Amino acid sequence: MAMNKPAIEGGTPARETKIYYGHQYIDDADIQAVVEVLKSDNLTCGPKIRELEDRLCEVTGAKYAVVCSNGTAALHMAAMAAGIKEGDEVITTPITFAASANCVLYCGGRPVFADIDPETYNIDPEKIEAAVTEKTKAVVVVDYTGQSVDLDRVCEICRKHGLVLIEDGAHVIGTTYQGRANGSISDMTTFSFHPVKTVTGGEGGAVLTNDETLYQKLLLYRSHGITRDPGQMEREPEGSWYYEQVALGFNYRMTDMQAALLISQLNKLPLFQKRRKEIVARYNEAFGRLPGLFVQKEIPASDTTRHLYILRIVPEKLTIDRKQFFEALAAENVCCNVHYIPTYYFPYYEKIGYRKGLCPNAEKLYEEILSLPLYYAMTDEDVESVIEAVTKIAVYYQK
Ligand SMILES: *Cc1c(COP(=O)(O)O)cnc(C)c1O
Repeated sequence: MAMNKPAIEGGTPARETKIYYGHQYIDDADIQAVVEVLKSDNLTCGPKIRELEDRLCEVTGAKYAVVCSNGTAALHMAAMAAGIKEGDEVITTPITFAASANCVLYCGGRPVFADIDPETYNIDPEKIEAAVTEKTKAVVVVDYTGQSVDLDRVCEICRKHGLVLIEDGAHVIGTTYQGRANGSISDMTTFSFHPVKTVTGGEGGAVLTNDETLYQKLLLYRSHGITRDPGQMEREPEGSWYYEQVALGFNYRMTDMQAALLISQLNKLPLFQKRRKEIVARYNEAFGRLPGLFVQKEIPASDTTRHLYILRIVPEKLTIDRKQFFEALAAENVCCNVHYIPTYYFPYYEKIGYRKGLCPNAEKLYEEILSLPLYYAMTDEDVESVIEAVTKIAVYYQK
């Protein structure tokens, strides 16, 4: 096996064609669902929106769902509904997409980064508690890769300090925590339906909550802060045309084409869950045996449908670093990605006062990871070719 040279050293690539870290799966039922909307009267604000919201409540057990244009809009609305304003601090993780912290900045608040657990890679609840000050208003946790954060502990900390808990669940649809679906546990959970996520609407997002007051606010923020409900109005309706703007909202609506696609995609969620779990189990089995690799630790409380598969190298046991590993995989036609650059590394965050060194575990993780292909439509041969490529490189460059 050690004689099998990686492609970068002149060997034959493990695959003939390139494979990428994520790809949507669209079938005829999905296409038909969108076509039906296109032939109907309502391209937006139609019946598919409520149907999708009901469906998300069914899937997660949450009482209310508000679907919107994308996961970032969902986070922005959740941050607004949480009442985040200038001077407020919100604790979050740096190992996430920038939107998890940007939503705090949109509201004039200040993100405070708490470090991750070095083995599960999720935000460390004890680091959350250590970061609480009298200015702290909320916490934005991220179920990184789809594994639930330790919500029991996080909820306890939030209750103790009177903080609103927003769960950025962009990766988590399909996962359960202690037998309850993520989406029904935090004060608000947001989803993203970008094409690389487990189910897609092209673009799309949602906020889930069990709290009626938050739900009413979210509905307002989605559509300009405008209401047609006389119960919410400040003045007497002047006629049946009358509506009022009672808050400053946005146009964060989702179209009915997207909603129809998502309803159809949710029909396949059990299939997506099963296949993603199979692939993860196969990867874990193969990579757990290689000394140069570390397999992400799973917490028993989370029955995880993984959105991302993170390959982590152990630099002390290899002669190459992550960048070289990444390039060697690309030469094998396995095209990876890196999730994520710690948010506060970005020039924008530097300009507003953040510096490297805040979260050592997150910074170390960033140096050692790459995201392998993981999606429903991968064939067994695809999976085995990825394993072959990773194994070849890990063995060849072993110290
Ligand atoms: C994808 C993603 C988002 C943003 O979702 P969009 O729908 O692309 O706006 C936010 N947070 C995390 C962790 C994500 O992965």
